[in-house]
Amino acid sequence: MSYQADEHGFYGSYGGAYIPEILYKTVNTLRERYLPIIESDDFQREYRALLRDYAGRPTPLYYAARMSRKYGCRLYLKREDLNHTGAHKINNAVGQILLARRMGKKRIIAETGAGQHGVATATVCALAGMPCRVYMGATDVERQRTNVERMRMLGAEVYAVESGNKTLKDATNEAIRDWCCHPDDTFYIIGSTVGPHPYPDLVARLQSVISEEIKIQLAEREGRDYPDRLIACVGGGSNAAGTIYHYLDDERVSIVLAEAGGLGTDTPQTAASLSLGTPGILHGSKIKLMQTDDGQITEPYSISAGLDYPGTGPLHCNLYESGRANVLAVTDAEALQAAFELTRLEGIIPALESSHALATLPKLTFKTDEVVVLTVSGRGDKDMNTYLKHKDEIDYNAI
Ligand SMILES: *Cc1c(COP(=O)(O)O)cnc(C)c1O
Repeated sequence: MSYQADEHGFYGSYGGAYIPEILYKTVNTLRERYLPIIESDDFQREYRALLRDYAGRPTPLYYAARMSRKYGCRLYLKREDLNHTGAHKINNAVGQILLARRMGKKRIIAETGAGQHGVATATVCALAGMPCRVYMGATDVERQRTNVERMRMLGAEVYAVESGNKTLKDATNEAIRDWCCHPDDTFYIIGSTVGPHPYPDLVARLQSVISEEIKIQLAEREGRDYPDRLIACVGGGSNAAGTIYHYLDDERVSIVLAEAGGLGTDTPQTAASLSLGTPGILHGSKIKLMQTDDGQITEPYSISAGLDYPGTGPLHCNLYESGRANVLAVTDAEALQAAFELTRLEGIIPALESSHALATLPKLTFKTDEVVVLTVSGRGDKDMNTYLKHKDEIDYNAI
């Protein structure tokens, strides 16, 4: 049994490509062409060169000595926060723009919630000299001013979406609508392991450079190329997919996924769609969703904008259901505490999303000398307002 997608894009009972008729040809062409292109020498040469010289890869695998002492394990941090534009999202955006060019596309669209994927896409469009329109909910445009200005400075058009709750789900709907109107010349750069097949597999492969590097770096540091445990946060699932990709079928490695519990999984203010969601179809894929009994999507809530999506990608739904991954819901308060702890113990201010991964450490028990790799998906600069607002709620004595 494999945890990878089958030829129809199913991970167990999740995934697939549930798309409108008008997109069938476009998605099918992408499905036929993505593997030959991304596996070609020509693509790999350009992709690897950009990851190295432009994004700043390989990212360090940092042994966190003070955190290790505190938790009684050997904790390594995979430093995706040190990438250009501040998170892992650039790995995917670089790969998809190269794919778009090889498929002869002339125009790029993307959806964004907090603006991180929008910034990564606007960045690679500037790099490639391609026009770019980013769909963003009007509420998010208001909340994430700096990222909107970054996208505009990079030359992208930011389209404020006024429908629905005016957040990520609505921005994605609008991007799909645009794609339906321009299926021939437009490439849709999706930001996570979500959407119709082949996107979840495409994005996982483009992010798999993370675990490829972990293997090499661990072999150098520990004399074996696998950890006992991997930990990552999940929004749509891309940084986690990249972290676990080369270890999915290696049962020596246990997998911990941190999803956003919000104010708690016993409240409506949560985004814990793996723990609480039910199967349904959103944005072309069968996944676990936060929805009402009659199938209306409920607005997710998390302090972290990047984890605030009403579902999780099909790969992770299957890992949850099969028991391959241990999924923990982390509350806002736990994530905030973890952010300040990493900052004070290691001098690294993590993104709020990554803080959810860090907050699983006190919930786990470790064997002596257990080797743990935790992905710090992004840096905390963008979250400084939130951190300052909550700094008096932190228990500094517990650090
Ligand atoms: C977008 C984002 C996430 C969540 O997205 P995934 O696709 O689940 O990785 C996590 N961390 C950071 C820093 C992000 O910007």
